[in-house]
Amino acid sequence: MQKLIAGIVEFRRKLRPAYRERFAHLALGQSPDSLFVACSDSRVVPNLFASTEPGDLFVVRNVGNLIPPCDANGSPLGDKSEGAAVEFALDVLGVKDIIVCGHSECGAMRAVLSGEISDRNPNLQDWLTVAARALPRLHAGEGDTDLSDMNRLSQLNTLQQLEHLASYPQVAARLAQGTVRLHAWWFDLHQAEVQAYDAARGRFVVLGDEG
Ligand SMILES: [Zn+2]
Repeated sequence: MQKLIAGIVEFRRKLRPAYRERFAHLALGQSPDSLFVACSDSRVVPNLFASTEPGDLFVVRNVGNLIPPCDANGSPLGDKSEGAAVEFALDVLGVKDIIVCGHSECGAMRAVLSGEISDRNPNLQDWLTVAARALPRLHAGEGDTDLSDMNRLSQLNTLQQLEHLASYPQVAARLAQGTVRLHAWWFDLHQAEVQAYDAARGRFVVLGDEG
């Protein structure tokens, strides 16, 4: 916690002068390009690896970078926070791209894979059922077999969450009109590199190297 406070003091002293004008402008409104769904993991820092500035990304972070799917009436099966962010991003901010970004060595994927989530953590247990929907893909042999099962599941999980996104009426309508694009990204911690799912090749490739 002390490090956090020291960081804020450091920001005030060194960076605030350069950022003050930008934030004053942003106080008038935001116009981000993308909705970015990432894991809460402390090692995943979207603004760093995507070189984004304040105002560029509308971000949802949760354990496992998950989006609960909707039922036929458009009501999320579980937490409504993600659905609210999707509606706000599309209807109010008008974002054109939604990115679900997983990462290697994800503790949530490890927990889903082991199936050993303690009964003492009932909320976590319930929440991770949204990720467990990706398990059949793993068991069916999908994904990059060069990866550990945990990392393979993590990549497949991002694809699963794109399907969940598409179950939201606001997303489905825009997909039909071609006014929103969905992207699956994956941050490889060992390489400090972002990969994107290349549908044509059926696998993740280093971002910028897609076909
Ligand atoms: Zn994670």
